[in-house]
Amino acid sequence: MKKFDPYKLVREQVKSMSPYSSARDEFTGLTAEMVFIDANENPFQSGLNRYPDPQQQVLKEKLGSIRQIKKECILLGNGSDEVLDLIYRAFCEPKTDSVILMPPTYGMYKVLANLNGISCKEVMLNRDFQLNVPEIIRAVDESTKLIFICSPNNPTGNKFFKSDIETILNSFNGLVVIDEAYVDFSDEKSWMTRLLEYPNLIVSQTFSKAYGMASIRLGICYASPEIISILNKIKPPYNINILTQNAALQKLNDIGETSKQIVEINKNKLLLIKELSKIKFIKKTFPSQANFILVRVDDANRRYDQLLQTGFVVRNRTKEPLCENCLRFTIGTEQEVLLLINTLKKLA
Ligand SMILES: *Cc1c(COP(=O)(O)O)cnc(C)c1O
Repeated sequence: MKKFDPYKLVREQVKSMSPYSSARDEFTGLTAEMVFIDANENPFQSGLNRYPDPQQQVLKEKLGSIRQIKKECILLGNGSDEVLDLIYRAFCEPKTDSVILMPPTYGMYKVLANLNGISCKEVMLNRDFQLNVPEIIRAVDESTKLIFICSPNNPTGNKFFKSDIETILNSFNGLVVIDEAYVDFSDEKSWMTRLLEYPNLIVSQTFSKAYGMASIRLGICYASPEIISILNKIKPPYNINILTQNAALQKLNDIGETSKQIVEINKNKLLLIKELSKIKFIKKTFPSQANFILVRVDDANRRYDQLLQTGFVVRNRTKEPLCENCLRFTIGTEQEVLLLINTLKKLA
């Protein structure tokens, strides 16, 4: 196992601060019959009048039992966007530290870096959308705190070679964040099973994609108990509201439904890929491990406008590096896929 001390990476300001201690931080051991006059809540029961559990114990317990991980290794965020922001704020000193990103990738890593005053070093993916490992390692200097790896990657759809990610985890002495927003659609196992092996690994997942719950805003962070406790220190005390906690619990009680939907979406993806190959102005369909596919067309701006006029909102990625004239289609229902194909066939 790699030797790594996350406390050495924590910002001085975070090290020295004491976290807000909420009225419900000692929630465990309390029973419902007790009289709660500690948090200035309205006493009339509505199911919503009490502050939610700041540590989301019940939800973490459920998630932990499904994913075979201790709840000390889990942190929940208001979407993965909050999880990523907390990672920046705990470990990256504004105007001093830097992170490495590999475009084309998910846009929030850069937005959050800018928001937090952290500089980004960008190491472009190869032509085949794989990691340029030697360049990434060369880009590391003493200011580099984080490397973000999105696998399967958005917007390209591919997963990265396992051995490349292992090389980065082994040779980099900062934190490696693997964003697995699309892992449920992939044939790759989650990196969360390798947390013990790599104490500098953080895995981020979300309820927004495969779980079909984008609107509840729930992101999951898996990491060592040490990293989780650092993030816990700075997270907003009541960041996951009770409606979200309850909705997520309900969803986890029917994992079967989610699995069925994933199978269906992957089936629709194959159908879309097959049919797209028959359309002349589609120059290339990139292989996908996610619930979307990236396609290269003859003229992305023109096709984007045509699709909008025929009632399809797609993502135009033509301005992204390596994605010239590329559109990204999310895989919908079978009916939506067939409708898209029919429309594409009719476009002049
Ligand atoms: C959609 C997506 C997310 C999800 O973000 P949430 O804030 O959890 O909705 C995270 N990472 C990537 C790469 C995504 O594409």
